[in-house]
Amino acid sequence: MNIQKVMVIGAGQMGSGIAQVCAQAGYEVKLNDREEKFFDRGLQTITKNLSRNVEKGRMTEDEKQVILNKITKSLSLEDANDVDIVIEAAVENMEIKQSIFKQLDEITPAHTILATNTSSLPITEIAAATNRPEQVIGMHFMNPVPVMKLVEIIRGLATNDDIYMAIEEMTKKLNKVPVEVNDFPGFVANRVLMPMINEAIYTLYEGVATKEAIDDVMKMGMNHPMGPLQLADFIGLDTCLYIMEVLHDGFGDSKYRPCPLLRKYVKAGWLGKKTGRGFYIYE
Ligand code: NAD
Repeated sequence: MNIQKVMVIGAGQMGSGIAQVCAQAGYEVKLNDREEKFFDRGLQTITKNLSRNVEKGRMTEDEKQVILNKITKSLSLEDANDVDIVIEAAVENMEIKQSIFKQLDEITPAHTILATNTSSLPITEIAAATNRPEQVIGMHFMNPVPVMKLVEIIRGLATNDDIYMAIEEMTKKLNKVPVEVNDFPGFVANRVLMPMINEAIYTLYEGVATKEAIDDVMKMGMNHPMGPLQLADFIGLDTCLYIMEVLHDGFGDSKYRPCPLLRKYVKAGWLGKKTGRGFYIYE
């Protein structure tokens, strides 16, 4: 399958990174968000990332411009009417994702692959909102997208082999490493990572140690490049809470219950780095 035109939905942390790596790999990219200001913020992040590459001598100013010229603004899902693949990276919420996929199923050509960057929601359930579940697949990039090598590729119940192969090939073209996993809550990455983050939040909540001490233990004792609370801020506390809820609902096991402190921070709007405050305060 020949993929040339890509639409990325959501110009947030993940969507902007996905748009950047797709444009860098030579794809034509439409970057979609609900409002101009969200698109502008995403494009600003991409421009900043590319400028840093120019400063460090990794690319020329001309190469940066070629990449930026491949990214066009979209404020309507109707713009998906001529793309070969859509990669959805809007918020981690089943209702929103199903509504987007239902619309995309009507708007996009019959051959278009519908991929989602969901961190934890069942691909099979997202696919059920469409009449082409065999062309729906999970493409789970890691944060920050331009840096991290892994892409978890998740087959839904109906995903067909040709679609899987096309996504595996595209992932390699993006200079990433594909790993195949099955459709289970949290897949592999967040099934393992998120309960550890949630436990670190419980450790803080129960007063076992300060946030700095918890992060230091995991950094220096376990050789993690970032402590779990810092990592939670980096991922976004709203996203962490959604994922814990998906694990909790999906397995019906109390070991996945989200820590009340996590809920409290999200209710306060302390969503981590993206809002300037989470467990830590950011400039
Ligand atoms: P974010 O909050 O930074 O960005 C989400 C963007 O989606 C926002 O710009 C928002 O305006 C836009 N959006 C919301 N509803 C929309 C709609 N209906 N149409 C178009 N745009 C819409 O979130 P994020 O961290 O980039 O996460 C996006 C997705 O990627 C989530 O599903 C998340 O679980 C997944 N993910 C996140 C991480 C991470 O570390 N943050 C890692 C892997 C996957």
